Amino acid sequence: PVVLVTGATGFIAQHVVDKLLARGYSVIGTGRTKEKYSIVIKNFKEKYPEGKLSFAIVPEIGADDAFDDVLKEHPEVKYVIHMASPIDFIPDSPLKEYYLDAAVNGTLNILKAIKKFAPNVTNVVLTSSFVSIMQQDPSIVLTNDMWNPITWDYVSNPHEAYAASKKFAELAARDFIASEKPNYKFATVNPALVVGPQVFDSSVNKVLNISNRFVLNVVQSADINSKDPQDQLPVVGIDVRDTAEFHILPLEIEALSDERILIANEPIIGQRVFNILNDNFPQLKGKIAVGDYDSAGELVERLCPKQDISNIINKIPGGYKFVTLEKSLVDTFKQYLAKEEI
Ligand code: NDP
Repeated sequence: PVVLVTGATGFIAQHVVDKLLARGYSVIGTGRTKEKYSIVIKNFKEKYPEGKLSFAIVPEIGADDAFDDVLKEHPEVKYVIHMASPIDFIPDSPLKEYYLDAAVNGTLNILKAIKKFAPNVTNVVLTSSFVSIMQQDPSIVLTNDMWNPITWDYVSNPHEAYAASKKFAELAARDFIASEKPNYKFATVNPALVVGPQVFDSSVNKVLNISNRFVLNVVQSADINSKDPQDQLPVVGIDVRDTAEFHILPLEIEALSDERILIANEPIIGQRVFNILNDNFPQLKGKIAVGDYDSAGELVERLCPKQDISNIINKIPGGYKFVTLEKSLVDTFKQYLAKEEI
């Protein structure tokens, strides 16, 4: 079967493409420019010589009819995974145009293009986010029926703009589906902070992709003698390989095909990051903070969000075993430290 993956040059999307090619799917990706996607094609060609991967250029998902051409040219597409959405902020961009308009219009554009040109589509998977669900009070146990109460009026910085853009894009998609009643199944994946290595070592740069950068920033900005950074970040994480897997499961497991798939695994907070890195990378001794090893549990309990995703996991025959945070961070930093210094 042929899968269209939008934003396929992205961090998570490359893992989705990796898994799709490994399982024998044909993949059509969209990328903003030929320059950006050529290297992705080259890398996957080396990894999967028999793999079927091509790309189409979609420079701006929010532009009118952005996806019409690619679906017009590929009426054979069966599955659509819409992942493109602005996440990495470009300074001085206007918040509404950069985040909200691109995310909402990009989502509506793909759904409209499917309606017009892709009669064979049976499943659509939209990458939403944990931030569409998040609540302010960390003692609330998050479940997949919750919505972040954020409104656009409240937004005053890029983080809030991003959160609102994801929530309103998901809502726009759900409204479209409710009014158009298409024949395909529609699922969203709502991942927590996605951490883990790049598919290809060669894509690692000094500046990591934004979600890994949150973790790297805590490490790099910490005064190594201070305890302050130990409570930074408080979030929940999910490994990028698990995140990718959960984009494909709704295509393969009927019970997940129209779910809102909240995925989150272990809590992440500065002190846990220091503990994992100090335990695993002796060469970082004296270069990164140590904090107070034993305080991690209490900090997590007090500050990190919690979730109950048993209703999702119960739909997977045999359950699901997530990659541990320790493995995610070790794999990420092994790859990073092989190329860059902290
Ligand atoms: P990346 O920035 O690596 O991937 C995003 C992709 O979308 C890139 O290919 C990017 O192209 C493309 N894109 C963004 N905005 C536009 C636009 N306006 N027009 C055309 N293409 C665009 O980020 P991630 O891999 O982390 O994110 C992928 C998806 O996962 C997003 O929908 C994000 O919101 C969601 N997500 C991510 C989480 C995380 O922690 N990373 C957590 C939860 C959800 P280019 O790079 O060329 O701009």
